[in-house]
Amino acid sequence: MKKDAEKLSQVELDELRGALEAEKDSVEEELAAHGRVQGETGDWQGRSTSEGEESDPSDVADNIEELATNVPLVEELEKRHTDIVDALEKMDNGTYGMCETCEEQIPPDRLEANAAARTCIAHAS
Ligand SMILES: [Zn+2]
Repeated sequence: MKKDAEKLSQVELDELRGALEAEKDSVEEELAAHGRVQGETGDWQGRSTSEGEESDPSDVADNIEELATNVPLVEELEKRHTDIVDALEKMDNGTYGMCETCEEQIPPDRLEANAAARTCIAHAS
């Protein structure tokens, strides 16, 4: 945080936080729809589509097959989810909007386009 003058205003921060929280909810819904649930460790895990325990081996097999089909999408969603959660954590500890590579302020218009952006434009991968 070298350039205080370019820091986001509280209003902008609140708007971005609202956008992040809304996206987090929709990503979590998507993940749940694809058979993923968040475990106690914070990792996303496969979920049996059957109620209760995974007692029926054929149900488990179906579920594994379904997960395999959805893996690229689910991985993308998980990655997005991690970005969003990290961005929200940064808002809480006051480092939000800082490039993770060079520690310069990320331009506000970039954050408006992608509130979970981790880097400035120069360091976007
Ligand atoms: Zn940078």
